[in-house]
Amino acid sequence: MSDIFAFPDDREASSAAKVRALEALLIEKGIIGSDSVDTVLRHFETVAGPFNGAKIVARAWVDPAYKARLLKDTPAAIAELDLPVGMTGAEGEHMVAVANSADVHNLIICTLCSCYPWPVLGLPPYWYKDPVFRARGVREPRAVLSEFGVAVPETKAVKVWDSSAQIRWFVVPERPANTEGMSEEALAALVTPESMMGVALVAAPQA
Ligand code: FE
Repeated sequence: MSDIFAFPDDREASSAAKVRALEALLIEKGIIGSDSVDTVLRHFETVAGPFNGAKIVARAWVDPAYKARLLKDTPAAIAELDLPVGMTGAEGEHMVAVANSADVHNLIICTLCSCYPWPVLGLPPYWYKDPVFRARGVREPRAVLSEFGVAVPETKAVKVWDSSAQIRWFVVPERPANTEGMSEEALAALVTPESMMGVALVAAPQA
């Protein structure tokens, strides 16, 4: 996979140092317990995250009737699957799936802040909150997409969806070629969080 979405190691290290200092202070002042942060981290590693979205997308790829239900009533379709969290989790209210196709490419942003469907995608990456990304995503989505490595042909429409507290969008990317006969689990492993934000395509598996 491309490392276009990676960020410098020192950014991670300096953020981690700030977080550790803040955590220690909050524990010292008795505001949080010593395992509070670990509990939250565990939640986003095992309960709410892009592994859920990937399962939803894979099911939509193998089952057209499911895909139709997902696009029509996203919460009900998600509730059909055996996921750790349903639609009631934090930031999971009012999720709506939109599907990429031969005619349309969808891009998800939040112009106001960083609204994002946590149960199916986890926490947003830092650049999702970047004011430049948020502004340019609306004004010149094709240019932004091409900088992410997604060249959308002029014949294909680009739709930009603005997530908010009312609706949190996610994308059902197009199923890549050469995936016939792959298991749902193997298909889910191809689906990246970026592809469900619309800033990447799902790459065909290496032969
Ligand atoms: Fe927001």
